[in-house]
Amino acid sequence: MQIIRSIEAMQAFAKGVKQSGERIGFVPTMGFLHEGHLSLVDRAKSEADVIVVSIFVNPTQFGPNEDLDAYPRDFARDEALCAGRGVDVVFYPPVEAMYFSDHSCWVEEFTLSQNLCGASRPSHFRGVTTVVAKLFNAVLPDVAVFGQKDAQQYLVLERMVRDLNFPIKMIRGEIVREADGLAMSSRNKYLSEKDRQAAVAISQALFQLKRRFLDGETAAAILLKAVEEAITTAGGRMDYVEAVSAETMQSVETLTENCFVAVAAFFGQTRLIDNVFFD
Ligand code: AMP
Repeated sequence: MQIIRSIEAMQAFAKGVKQSGERIGFVPTMGFLHEGHLSLVDRAKSEADVIVVSIFVNPTQFGPNEDLDAYPRDFARDEALCAGRGVDVVFYPPVEAMYFSDHSCWVEEFTLSQNLCGASRPSHFRGVTTVVAKLFNAVLPDVAVFGQKDAQQYLVLERMVRDLNFPIKMIRGEIVREADGLAMSSRNKYLSEKDRQAAVAISQALFQLKRRFLDGETAAAILLKAVEEAITTAGGRMDYVEAVSAETMQSVETLTENCFVAVAAFFGQTRLIDNVFFD
């Protein structure tokens, strides 16, 4: 497994792979890897020949009062996990390689990125679309795999790929969960023992909502209120819970198979997100 740190070296590697007729599968991450990330690697392997994982804690997607400096990092551990999973290249650029000090170009999506996390974290998605466009230009992937855990992010990036004609196949990987249902996240490391126990309320509430939907309850107001009650009763503080169309991200009043319910809630200082689809 190679570690590549410069954009030029990454592009040269990618061009060599393409000349040999092989396909590049790409999994962008912010590191501190867990089984959720590694499941995306497995998915990429089923679609491509050469697998690149990027590890880059992207400063432009963090707000001024967010956890950029505290974000967990452990490159040695990530490197071992990637090697063990058959990754070919870890692209691990320093911040200076990704952003010139006078960087002044941005990629921005203006429809799907406005509500949910886009409303709570202004400029977050502009940072995400910009860095992913830059990573795509460095890694030159044929296939890119992102997790459904960040469902809005996936839809925004899929729109970017469509609207800006990136020749890349987008794949959405399933959410990988801890044994009790909590969605795996690098940020779970921040949780105290007590908050870790309590945070399972998020996934339990979403699973319960899906059961009620399958039993015939489709009124968003009723279903979302129950999710909020379950999370706040467990000690969480809601950021949002919404039912939205999986195509337009617009809120829906009646749940259908073509929508999803997304939650963001704080346990202690830690903001966790999760969602459930109905298809
Ligand atoms: P992150 O390192 O948190 O930026 O995530 C990198 C990629 O891994 C994104 O596409 C995420 O959606 C995905 N991901 C994060 N957590 C999970 C999970 N529990 N299951 C599946 N994919 C995940």
